[in-house]
Amino acid sequence: MEDEEGSEYGKPDFVLLDQVTMEDFMRNLQLRFEKGRIYTYIGEVLVSVNPYQELPLYGPEAIARYQGRELYERPPHLYAVANAAYKAMKHRSRDTCIVISGESGAGKTEASKHIMQYIAAVTNPSQRAEVERVKDVLLKSTCVLEAFGNARTNRNHNSSRFGKYMDINFDFKGDPIGGHIHSYLLEKSRVLKQHVGERNFHAFYQLLRGSEDKQLHELHLDRNPAVYNFTRQGAGLNMTVHSALDSDERSHQAVIEAMRVIGFSPEEVESVYRILAAILHLGNIEFVETEEDGPQKEGLAVAEEALVDRVAELTATPRDLVLRSLLARTVASGGRELIEKGHTAAEASYARDACAKAVYQRLFEWVVNRINSVMEPRDRDPRRDGKDTVIGVLDIYGFEVFPVNSFEQFCINYCNEKLQQLFIRLILKQEQEEYEREGITWQSVEYFNNAIIVDLVERPHRGILAVLDEACSSAGTITDRIFLQTLDTHHRHHLHYTSRQLCPTDKTMEFGRDFRIKHYAGDVTYSVEGFIDKNRDFLFQDFKRLLYNSTDPTLRAMWPDGQQDITEVTKRPLTAGTLFKNSMVALVENLASKEPFYVRCIKPNEDKVAGKLDENHCRHQVAYLGLLENVRVRRAGFASRQPYSRFLLRYKMTCEYTWPNHLLGSDKAAVSALLEQHGLQGDVAFGHSKLFIRSPRTLVTLEQSRARL
Ligand code: ATP
Ligand code: MG
Repeated sequence: MEDEEGSEYGKPDFVLLDQVTMEDFMRNLQLRFEKGRIYTYIGEVLVSVNPYQELPLYGPEAIARYQGRELYERPPHLYAVANAAYKAMKHRSRDTCIVISGESGAGKTEASKHIMQYIAAVTNPSQRAEVERVKDVLLKSTCVLEAFGNARTNRNHNSSRFGKYMDINFDFKGDPIGGHIHSYLLEKSRVLKQHVGERNFHAFYQLLRGSEDKQLHELHLDRNPAVYNFTRQGAGLNMTVHSALDSDERSHQAVIEAMRVIGFSPEEVESVYRILAAILHLGNIEFVETEEDGPQKEGLAVAEEALVDRVAELTATPRDLVLRSLLARTVASGGRELIEKGHTAAEASYARDACAKAVYQRLFEWVVNRINSVMEPRDRDPRRDGKDTVIGVLDIYGFEVFPVNSFEQFCINYCNEKLQQLFIRLILKQEQEEYEREGITWQSVEYFNNAIIVDLVERPHRGILAVLDEACSSAGTITDRIFLQTLDTHHRHHLHYTSRQLCPTDKTMEFGRDFRIKHYAGDVTYSVEGFIDKNRDFLFQDFKRLLYNSTDPTLRAMWPDGQQDITEVTKRPLTAGTLFKNSMVALVENLASKEPFYVRCIKPNEDKVAGKLDENHCRHQVAYLGLLENVRVRRAGFASRQPYSRFLLRYKMTCEYTWPNHLLGSDKAAVSALLEQHGLQGDVAFGHSKLFIRSPRTLVTLEQSRARL
């Protein structure tokens, strides 16, 4: 480590702690944080604490200091991790991935941007035009995805409301030639409703605040977000994203410019904003029951018909069909006969909301696919059978616990169980492989295997997702409550599952409403209310057909399933839970096939302020990210390992046989002589190319003798 990382800055690697206790860990974290050292290693895992202030750690000069270096040569940094992943990819042709995790506001997205900037800065020295284009798209895609996928929440003013995994493809020269983005589980319920103090997705406010009067007029929009049901929920009506971020006006221009650079056509951009406007108008449509005699279509009307005109105009669909889709649904009654069944006001509101959510989700997915379409690698390298090498970057939601937890938290926490399982598997596997490669023997380490929890969720037939799917397939007769009872029956003896029914004395859960999972990161109580509905994620075919028949080609392209006839739609589409599970299984498989690097982000306090590290809050994160376990696993084998040459560079001055140069034939022999002189040879193992040091004390001793010189 460089000299600037002296002991007053704490240990740059938690592995070097004298003892692995929570207290020691926290003391080191705190000390480093106070000194502006927000990054610390655990071996090759980077722990990062959000500083909530601009630190002079980034930019071209900093990048140059890390470029091409070894991980330990410089103080811990994201750039070092990006560089290590890049080198493994370039020099060893290994597919690598960087997995960034941590709770909301911990700094995952910022970290992913620094990584991308590093990669962009160190590649394409010869300025090839196509590579520059790909880099531009990669960098600009973030801006567009944040507009449509991020929102202000109480925990983070620029919170990603979707999970993101991005592959960057490299050619044999190590230059980016393409990429692909996978998005996971967009929080689309936010389109309809936001908690107090929160906002809808940024794009809505950017459109309202950033458009010129003329454009707003064309879209029939009012500049004030308080006019729209979907943008006024969060109460603070004049809220902009906090000062640290660009204002909505400026962001709007940046997003439009980014879309242009990426390659969206002007028509496509116009369609995108027309669709957003249509969603806002749709949200203001209300229904009135005009007759008392029952829920027939004739008995229901739209309160303000002008809104229907606007939705029809903006979606380029026939007005009468829009109205009909809002007031009634088509059902197949016996055989192929189709009848129209009128909605009640409640049904119509529900259908309207489902439509608004679905339109937004399809829009988001279309944006992602559009970006992907221009990043598809063009000139695959024939020498590698068309296979490129890849670096993947995962920026995905961390473990979540709210006062009330619903289907979304259930999915997110399941995702974290999967990733934790992978983390343990990969970190251990990686260690084991290195020992084998270097010809070192070691004993395996015991750790908590959370497979049992993953199994509780995803196991076929009896797992929670399977039981939920079963409930969803039973034509509306099964309620959330019955779903809960079925879970209770199946899992009454499961060590990680409980409910009030199974544990009547536990008053922190409610009868018939709550179940609790003992996650690896802690207990979470889920309310089953809305589970079935959210999992079924149903939208009437009438809307799909309506939008598929739009004369706007961009909108139409988002609704390919609208061409199905109502009589063909009998086959149930996959549920939201199953789709999510499948995407997680694929993600984990993909990550497992790559050489992993981990960035574990920690949020220092709940107030989003600089310079404050709230100990309790951080302890919890350290615990659930499994960081102590990580340190122990790393130390159980060998606390430190380094190539002989690097070891000599650092310590050769402490031994007469090695200073200034040794004549011992090999670096390995020289290291052996050095250690013998210090009486430390009992604590090490000699690998083929690296020295393995068991206890951190050895390093401390060496550091001390170096400091005494
Ligand atoms: P979410 O899960 O809600 O998306 P996140 O982990 O992606 O959260 P970020 O959006 O990356 O969190 O970070 C939240 C805020 O913290 C940023 O908007 C920025 O203000 C600040 N921040 C994060 N990392 C840094 C950093 N390295 N330097 C300065 N500020 C930072
Ligand atoms: Mg984020």
